[in-house]
Amino acid sequence: MSDCLPIQAATPGVRRSRQARVVWGDNVVTVGGDAPVRVQSMTNTDTVDAIGTAIQVKELAQAGSELVRITVNTPEAAQAVPHIREQLDRMGIMVPLVGDFHYNGHTLLSQYPACAEALSKYRINPGNVGKGDKRDRQFGQMIDVALKWNKPVRIGVNWGSLDQDLLAGMMDENSRRAQPWDAKAVMYEALVTSAIDSASFARELGMPAEQILLSCKVSGVQDLISVYRELSKRCDYPLHLGLTEAGMGTKGTVASTAAMAILLQEGIGDTIRVSLTPQPGESRTQEVVIASEILQALGLRTFVPSVTACPGCGRTTSTTFQELTKQIDDFLRLQMPVWRKQYPGVEALKVAVMGCIVNGPGESKHADIGISLPGTGEAPAAPVFIDGEKRMTLRGEGIAREFQRIVENYIEARFGAHKKTVVETV
Ligand code: SF4
Repeated sequence: MSDCLPIQAATPGVRRSRQARVVWGDNVVTVGGDAPVRVQSMTNTDTVDAIGTAIQVKELAQAGSELVRITVNTPEAAQAVPHIREQLDRMGIMVPLVGDFHYNGHTLLSQYPACAEALSKYRINPGNVGKGDKRDRQFGQMIDVALKWNKPVRIGVNWGSLDQDLLAGMMDENSRRAQPWDAKAVMYEALVTSAIDSASFARELGMPAEQILLSCKVSGVQDLISVYRELSKRCDYPLHLGLTEAGMGTKGTVASTAAMAILLQEGIGDTIRVSLTPQPGESRTQEVVIASEILQALGLRTFVPSVTACPGCGRTTSTTFQELTKQIDDFLRLQMPVWRKQYPGVEALKVAVMGCIVNGPGESKHADIGISLPGTGEAPAAPVFIDGEKRMTLRGEGIAREFQRIVENYIEARFGAHKKTVVETV
């Protein structure tokens, strides 16, 4: 071994932020401070359809969304909000609801107090609260309602709806500089200034700092990184992080992951949302799955047992290996809503499904349970490793079923109410 220093394990940075509380009933979701990075999502139903919206909120919450935002854009939507809340309470879904307001939030929150009460947080977009002298007055009206009902607010700036008066003023100012900044730098500055100045104004109006969260969303990866690095330096409010309009499918997933992973690794981001356009027929819950996977991959949180699987190669010419990996992955995800209650700690389980002898046994030994399937030309036998030891070998058609049973027994033995020695039971 060379005489150099040991390689340090990479760990996420820590940004000291205040902590906000988003509350519904007994469910208190803390954001920022020492709280874990929270997952949130947004419905795409018509809020007026109270039943349809409540059902989608339930799905998102069950998939792991700790806050769910709904559009509140019309008087009818505002009237539907308390009914959505009632439906959820009846179903035992206590996830806090966040109201997303633009243009008429001051009116809706003032005229529909039941809506203001049923929501647990209000999103205010400073670029969409009104123009000219109406801006401060209407912003102030929303803050007054938040204070009345003791609700936190997210001051959510978006580059697609950036305060144009502010941007124009900053552009003018920039043109008078001896060496003007480029237009992008001015836009970054305008985004951050809009968020910070709006938060300062909210505080002047009496809003406690602990009830304010900020976001500055843009749709470019490098832009998001630039803006949030600066935003995080200039304030200690909890930050809602997300790449806006990330797009669809692989593109949206990769762009969101690339942007958020870099910032989260620097300790920036207290709650995240993946703004994914669903593929036709795709469940809205996909954005929650991706957000959770980002946090789990970074080691920031653990939501579901992880399945390590090799990519397969010329040594895995049959589809058995892919099928088994998918079956195990689906099985674990499907069981989680029940297992989370029944088997505390089960989300930390590590399973390996490997395609051949090259890395199969080694990787399987690193997992809690691993199976090394036979590659092309290998004897048709699949050794199973439990807690680093080879315990049995599976053969024949029923390998997937048999392995699933072994995983279930292991979970019962290790995480069940009557924990047993795992060796005895599988
Ligand atoms: S473990 Fe085997 S099958 Fe899997 S990628 Fe490596 S060599 Fe290929």
